[in-house]
Amino acid sequence: MTERLYYHDSYLREFRARVVDRSGAKLYLDRTAFYPTSGGQPHDVGTINGTAVIDVIDEGERIAHQLAASTESEEAACRIDWPRRIDHMQQHSGQHLLSAVFIEQFGIETCSFHLGEEISTLDLETPSIDLEKVMAAERRANEAVAENRPILVTYESAEAAADLRKPSDRDGTLRIVSIQGLDRIACGGTHVRLTGEIGPILIRRLEKVRNTTRIEFLCGGRAVQRARADYNALTRIAQTFSTSVDETPQVAATQFQAVREGDRLRRKLEGDLARYQGRELYEATAPDAKGIRRAIRRLPKGTLDDLRALAQSFTTQPKAVFIGIIEQPPSLLLVASPDSGIDAGKTLQPLLAQAGGRGGGNARMAQGSAPMIAPILELLLKD
Ligand SMILES: [Zn+2]
Repeated sequence: MTERLYYHDSYLREFRARVVDRSGAKLYLDRTAFYPTSGGQPHDVGTINGTAVIDVIDEGERIAHQLAASTESEEAACRIDWPRRIDHMQQHSGQHLLSAVFIEQFGIETCSFHLGEEISTLDLETPSIDLEKVMAAERRANEAVAENRPILVTYESAEAAADLRKPSDRDGTLRIVSIQGLDRIACGGTHVRLTGEIGPILIRRLEKVRNTTRIEFLCGGRAVQRARADYNALTRIAQTFSTSVDETPQVAATQFQAVREGDRLRRKLEGDLARYQGRELYEATAPDAKGIRRAIRRLPKGTLDDLRALAQSFTTQPKAVFIGIIEQPPSLLLVASPDSGIDAGKTLQPLLAQAGGRGGGNARMAQGSAPMIAPILELLLKD
């Protein structure tokens, strides 16, 4: 059975131990301060005799240390990667504090916790929560940080342990982590000694997950780094709008409206222009022997949508047929006025199929794509 040194001293970062068992690059020690992945907190990394510890696994009685390479020594000189560990301690203690505050302020329980690489989450036992409440909880949690309350670890029997935030399903002796005057809960994680060490607490995204609300939060150094990145991003956006960070939401909303209005106007003008161009093209196109006016328009690239308005406008005139061609990617549009005697769909569809392409449409308008457009056009112009 591995003695868990981190239970009694979460600040122990260097220790010596005896190797009691090994299996390949997996090492078992008589005692360890390496925290194994459990209770929402990821494992520690560090070194044993200078070899990297890449995973720490809780196997119940024993803790396995997965090394990057196998070692021979019977003695183990161990070192925990401290920046990673203290970061985990800040996030984990911060989570206890936030969970306690959500109960204290609003009676909302926490049902799960995940400590991530960049961001941590806790799931609140509620399908929704007002942003005001979340902001109030964040404020209250930061007050409790400034109050610098002691965070204590005690061992109590499961039957006698009272006032726990959440009843424990374990029996025997419980390891209870308490934030003085705020919280008591059974937990095996590593925690800071004082709430002040948690540092600033920042809540970010809220997300509904089934019947719970997932809250993203960051504590300590992570919160400062994130706030810095947010500020830098906001500053760049504000510079784009030539305004201050605080004015940006209003200025961005106004500009967005203006762009939408401009877009609407552009579409209207494009329609107007297409109508004029269609009429002009019609007048400039001589009718053939059957009195049909046939216009062809080619664009080197783009989509058939770029020709549709002109095609429609042209074929609102009597006895008119419009052929639109996009060279890249090869595609073709055929639009015919109702009195032209041409069924666009029935005419184009078989030609496309013959040329190894695909497409179709109705009597008035048809379109499609094919590897080669020239042969289709040739056939179309034949009759
Ligand atoms: Zn915990």
